[in-house]
Amino acid sequence: MPPPRAVNIMLGRSGRDAPADERSPRRVDTKERALGDSEQAATSADLSAGARSSAPPRATDVELAVLVLADGVRPDVLTALSDAGELPNITRHVLAEGSYLDGVTVLPSVTDVAYLPMLTVQYPGTANIPGIRWVDKSRFKSGRLFVTAARSYVGAAHLRFNGDLHPGLETLFELCPSSFAVRSDIHRGLSHGRNRFHHLSIPFMFFSHYLKRADFIDRLAMGSLMRATQRMRDDLPRFVFVPLLDVDTASHAYGPHHRRTIAAYRRLDAAIGAIIQRLRTLGVWRRTHLLVSSDHGHTATHEHLNLRRLVSELGYSVLEHPNVYRRWADAAVMISGNSFANIYLASEGKWDGPLTGQTLWREHPRLLDALSRRVEVEWPAYRSDAGLIEIASASGRARVGRENGWYAYHYDGEDPLRLGLAHTRVPASAALQVTAETGFPDALEQMWHLFESRRAGDIVVTSKPGYDLRGRREIPEHHSSHGALCRDHMRVPILSNRPLRNEGPVRTVDLFPTVASSLGLAPTKPHFGRSLWP
Ligand SMILES: [Zn+2]
Repeated sequence: MPPPRAVNIMLGRSGRDAPADERSPRRVDTKERALGDSEQAATSADLSAGARSSAPPRATDVELAVLVLADGVRPDVLTALSDAGELPNITRHVLAEGSYLDGVTVLPSVTDVAYLPMLTVQYPGTANIPGIRWVDKSRFKSGRLFVTAARSYVGAAHLRFNGDLHPGLETLFELCPSSFAVRSDIHRGLSHGRNRFHHLSIPFMFFSHYLKRADFIDRLAMGSLMRATQRMRDDLPRFVFVPLLDVDTASHAYGPHHRRTIAAYRRLDAAIGAIIQRLRTLGVWRRTHLLVSSDHGHTATHEHLNLRRLVSELGYSVLEHPNVYRRWADAAVMISGNSFANIYLASEGKWDGPLTGQTLWREHPRLLDALSRRVEVEWPAYRSDAGLIEIASASGRARVGRENGWYAYHYDGEDPLRLGLAHTRVPASAALQVTAETGFPDALEQMWHLFESRRAGDIVVTSKPGYDLRGRREIPEHHSSHGALCRDHMRVPILSNRPLRNEGPVRTVDLFPTVASSLGLAPTKPHFGRSLWP
């Protein structure tokens, strides 16, 4: 049976049909407004306006919520395989009586960072983790020894991710202390022994990268889950988080539509079948809310732009992972998912806070010009002097602003985001609706909140589909990429074995409050999601 679709985008409709208590975002005071950088929070009233209160918890028959995060799954591939009868467990046991929704992830659309909305109800910018690689310029003023001020969560360094989370946010594990996870890099709130196969997975992750396969990692993770649920059968947790990597790894290695990647989708279906079977055996399946979603899509990569080399050839001394031990540098290129990069620049030889438009164009005109003209690059974006976000292309320049719960969007020349909007103001509650069907879904909300983090680059660039930013030196070579704001990276499927509210496009940041509602809980900190639980 084909999954029911839930795309219903009506331009001009004012806001989503949220219940009355969610329709008007609650204003929170500055003490409560803890997220984003502390320095920036004081000047970012809009962040609080974006934060939502939660409906009071309601009684529910759900005893257990399970979130399977199928890393890198594209909605079109998943639904085509389901329609063709190739994903029998997902089709019969999840979709038959449940819901399929088209969802939108976050910018950057990259593993771990794009888990943040589901597990913390925050965007990467407001969680202060604006990429899998970033630089904190405030900690790097001398131009020497980048190590303490820079992060790359690739390899064993992914263990640092949890410690870098903004202290003011709430994880789903903190909200629901009776939680369990397998190999979750976000694990604040999980009690000891409740994040199985996390440290143990490090050597396997190393081999996975070079062997270009993660099926054995998922098998080990599933084995760990099965043994743990058997052990805990008399006292099951209320929330279980299971990230699976097979599809993402196969997509990078072979491309998003390659037969080996399709085989990974089938293994995903088998894993979901095994989870359902176990829950049936334990007698809890009828009282389980099972969600399956993804953190990003994928696009095939045919050509590589070596962004570091491009910046170097313009005369910069560039820092890039893994070579972060330079004694002196005046630029840093931090790439995420191969299609997204934070670029950080010294100003007159000094490293300090974020640079804004006038300084960038005065001191780095050749770099901005090159980035806005390169055929491989979508556009560079940066903070303007007036507190807006500017997006530049060779033929136009756009500005995103936000005030009192409204986005303002203007452009000169051709619109670099091609949003099809007039020079306009859009209520923040409609920001997803008016952009969901464009080439850059949720552009206003995602661009705005990314730059809430002072760790976001002075310049952010994304590559066009077909290209990446990492050069051929990435070993093994990637044949597929993600990280950008383009449609094929941003669109993700959301599947639920229980019917969800079906009122237009949704974000992955809505999954946390949805899981919480199904368990009779409600987030206690300001957040960006809305519950889809009916
Ligand atoms: Zn990936």
